[in-house]
Amino acid sequence: MTNKSTTCMGKISGRPLTEYTTMSEANEAAAYVDRTHGNEMVAYRCQRCHMWHLGTAERHTPSQPCGVCVGGNGQPKQSYRSEAEAERRAKILGRERRVYLRSYSCPHGDGWHLTKG
Ligand SMILES: [Zn+2]
Ligand SMILES: [Zn+2]
Repeated sequence: MTNKSTTCMGKISGRPLTEYTTMSEANEAAAYVDRTHGNEMVAYRCQRCHMWHLGTAERHTPSQPCGVCVGGNGQPKQSYRSEAEAERRAKILGRERRVYLRSYSCPHGDGWHLTKG
């Protein structure tokens, strides 16, 4: 069950945040938003109400499609500007989707990519 919080409002929207009672519930909701709206969300434990809310993911990992490399899904692989950014992105994905990714430098010199395993 999810409810609208009576104590916590979105900083940007000004509307009550949705509260989740468990981390897995919140993570599932985050993954769903990501799939359906393409919005990257992270679940976090609220300091105020001690429930779980969704917040916007850290957006410090800008990426762009690699001009050469194609991923397993047939889409261009995302290129990160540095290994550190690729690693940070891998961590976010790991937390959100329980996928484990590692970074490697693009064989064509187009930044860094992530791969499974
Ligand atoms: Zn809260
Ligand atoms: Zn590449």
